[in-house]
Amino acid sequence: MIRKLLRKVFNRRAAKSISGEPARIPVSQHGIRREQVSPFAVKVCATLQAHGHQAYIVGGAIRDLLIGHPPKDYDVATSATPEEVRTLFRRARIIGRRFRIVHVTSGAETLEVSTFRANQLAETDRHGRVLADNIYGTQAEDAIRRDFTVNALYYDPATETILDYHHGVADLSQKTLRMIGEPRARYREDPVRMLRAVRLAAKLGLIIDPAARAPIRDMAVLLENVPTARLFDETLKLLLSGNAVRCIEQLREEGLHHGLLPLLDVILDQPVAERFIWLALENTDERVRADKSVSPGFLFAALLWPEVLREWKERQSAGEMAQPALFDAMDEILDAQAAKLAITRRVIGDIKDIWAIQPRFDKRTGKTPFRLIEHPRFRAGWDFLRLRALAGGVPQEIPAWWDRFAHAGHDEREELLRAAPQEGAAAHKRRRRRRKPGNDGDAAAEAAPAP
Ligand code: ATP
Ligand code: MG
Repeated sequence: MIRKLLRKVFNRRAAKSISGEPARIPVSQHGIRREQVSPFAVKVCATLQAHGHQAYIVGGAIRDLLIGHPPKDYDVATSATPEEVRTLFRRARIIGRRFRIVHVTSGAETLEVSTFRANQLAETDRHGRVLADNIYGTQAEDAIRRDFTVNALYYDPATETILDYHHGVADLSQKTLRMIGEPRARYREDPVRMLRAVRLAAKLGLIIDPAARAPIRDMAVLLENVPTARLFDETLKLLLSGNAVRCIEQLREEGLHHGLLPLLDVILDQPVAERFIWLALENTDERVRADKSVSPGFLFAALLWPEVLREWKERQSAGEMAQPALFDAMDEILDAQAAKLAITRRVIGDIKDIWAIQPRFDKRTGKTPFRLIEHPRFRAGWDFLRLRALAGGVPQEIPAWWDRFAHAGHDEREELLRAAPQEGAAAHKRRRRRRKPGNDGDAAAEAAPAP
């Protein structure tokens, strides 16, 4: 009751500040100096301002700097229209049709420059989802249109001042992720905000404000109306955030994995496959945090692997030959996935390469190993094999053998080939070992003879 009352009062206060002036927070309070932000973003703002436009660094970068995270990329908000922005910069191009923004590039850095959006929704679908949003407005209107208070902070590099329309700085210091406006309405406009809430909370260690958290479970189903390509982008951001484990845990807690990602649906409700998936996610998080490259293909190959194994085994039990059964299983799982989340074609190619190479690691005789180590995807395939071994689905000895083989000289290779168990014997031994409990998603595949 008291909480309700407090919220009411707070909402009224927040609503007031929308129509009013923003808080102007000087550098002496927030501490972000011009030198700490991307010089390119500073330059772009300066150019826009020199031509009579308003321009601020906005969004994730300011939020991240305030809590001491290095920003991933920079967004600029301006009163200039996309056309005006484009004419001011040599390497600038307008992208998007429904949400037009300008990408301004210098070297490897790309800034997203967006024009202040008006606080009116141009076009929505029958669920209330915003389809087009190209009506421009004032900065205050633009601030209302942003999702969370901590994302509506505008930093002016010229004066080093932050303009805060929705108490974002205070929320951030209280580790709260608060929605601007009425959460249900905001999720209806754009269901992806539910995923953003989970991702940002996990990444920044914020608590999702109860008012924003409560409706998620009921509204999760709205994600089904989001275009599959956009879901792919968001899911990738989530998985490559360096906090995939925490994100997925929280998605699960909020009931958001159902319907969203068929792959997570199946996998997370299936204890046998879990160990493998968590290992894959932990491995990805470690790599992201160590600034190592992560391949989306590798990650999706891992997430979908338990399903492919299940399907592969079923097909073989039904009498299909091992090799075609694997390729059919791959296609079937990828098709089912595509209906919900459009994995890009290039990534699909990578996934298939990694899967298709797996059975070849079983063949450790004759010329085959020499050909395999020359295969352009040997390294990715081997990494994947090692992950399977870590999860207990493949004997550790196999990836170890391949590592030695790949790095050995001629004589040592001959020696390794002599010492390697023959395929039939190895498969037989593994089949017996597999009877032990606590195995992972690989159990299914090993039960089937490797092609
Ligand atoms: P990060 O870049 O770390 O993923 P971000 O908050 O910067 O986080 P972007 O996708 O770069 O995310 O978006 C930039 C800004 O645009 C956000 O901070 C927010 O103000 C606004 N924004 C992005 N997506 C939405 C959305 N779905 N609804 C409302 N505002 C959004
Ligand atoms: Mg950003």
